[in-house]
Amino acid sequence: MALRLYNSYGRKLLPFRPLRNKEVRMYTCGPTVWDYAHVGNFRTFLFEDLLRRFLKFKGYRVTQVKNITDVEDRIIRGMKEKGLSRKELATFFEEAFMQDLDTLKIERAEFYPRATDHIPGIKPKELKVGARVSQDHYEKAEARDFALWKAWDEDDGEVYWETELGKGRPGWHIECSAMSMKYLGESFDIHTGGMDLRFPHHENEIAQSEAATGKKLARFWLHSEFLSVSGKEMHKSSGNIVKLRDLLKDGWDPLTVRLFLISAHYRDPINLTQKALEQAQAERERLEQFVSRLRQNRQESPSRHAGLANQLLKSFERSMDADLNTPRAFAALFSFVKRVNKLMDGEKMGTKEAGEILLALKRVNGILGVISFEEEGELSPELLSLIKERDEARSVKDFAKADEIRSQLSKRGITVEDTSRGTVWRREPSLKARVKDKDMEAQDL
Ligand code: AMP
Ligand code: ZN
Repeated sequence: MALRLYNSYGRKLLPFRPLRNKEVRMYTCGPTVWDYAHVGNFRTFLFEDLLRRFLKFKGYRVTQVKNITDVEDRIIRGMKEKGLSRKELATFFEEAFMQDLDTLKIERAEFYPRATDHIPGIKPKELKVGARVSQDHYEKAEARDFALWKAWDEDDGEVYWETELGKGRPGWHIECSAMSMKYLGESFDIHTGGMDLRFPHHENEIAQSEAATGKKLARFWLHSEFLSVSGKEMHKSSGNIVKLRDLLKDGWDPLTVRLFLISAHYRDPINLTQKALEQAQAERERLEQFVSRLRQNRQESPSRHAGLANQLLKSFERSMDADLNTPRAFAALFSFVKRVNKLMDGEKMGTKEAGEILLALKRVNGILGVISFEEEGELSPELLSLIKERDEARSVKDFAKADEIRSQLSKRGITVEDTSRGTVWRREPSLKARVKDKDMEAQDL
């Protein structure tokens, strides 16, 4: 099956093939480390994570570069507000960013080059054009011109480098040109970012890189649509910026946030609401329950459903091959869950097949990354006897006692589900989230 991706350069859905056999070189415009990253940023970083993981699933070796913009107007403003040096501020938020990546289970790129470590790599002789503008972010109308090198002015304070061009700092676009080519060569396979980067950032990158080398910078340009919050664009001035850490403080499990952010197709806008998160939470619980049921399945039915696991893998791959169509992939996954649950209800699922399905699910989750698959381990004899006591209470229809035991178990982080084969238990995911959350509060700047 062939992977097809939508190339913004030329606006076409095209079969993807890398320049080098079996190796994909990919550049991802990374964060500007002036504050904690917000959920919109992670919408984009997660689409890039899915792409990376799916390319590996398809058998490619991936080399990904994600730059860290550690010198920029917003950083200089932040330094002044907080009374920190550029390095102190940028290092703090770079570390916070890396922690957030881990929290959302975003795989690490191979390289995280920082702009300030690459200033000697910006060769003045290649800087042929460009007008000076005083801000890194400017209105579209002004963006015909862009700064390759930004001459120092008073607002920059201590932030400058002495070069042949004089005192100043690199423009944002040159940063990405210099670093992508340094790590990936003059031509590579995929360049990604959010929609807002198509113009001017990526057009400028293309203009200056291709003028310098005479070669095509990247073959595929992929862009994700924006995330809004309750139907509104996120803006500092509207006070509606939601950071990942805000959602964790509100008690949302990171994997619920991840599921929500990848549930829409990356080229469709996505809207963050309480309801959407609740839905994602319910979907995740359905998946966790499914895993617990498969693990605790002790049915010895003859193998009548061999090949089910393969069907799951096929439908998943087909969906993702179509320009990473995650809504279709989730729909296929949930209809599969429904079907297998039904088989288990009817005691028609053998242990061997259940094991195969678990393995297939692990492969699918290797890309989606929304099921924790943490070893549930064995329960202590005390908890096991509580579950047994509850089963007995239910069998004599003493529901008050059964409910009382359920709530005792819930306080200990164990959820029980009643099935035709008796009780299935699992550990409560949101409890794990709350523990992580506590660690985070101490780190706020
Ligand atoms: P920045 O840290 O501002 O350079 O942005 C990092 C990445 O997040 C870039 O790829 C942006 O295009 C992307 N981005 C910024 N805001 C949003 C948003 N609301 N929704 C989706 N992606 C975004
Ligand atoms: Zn960039």
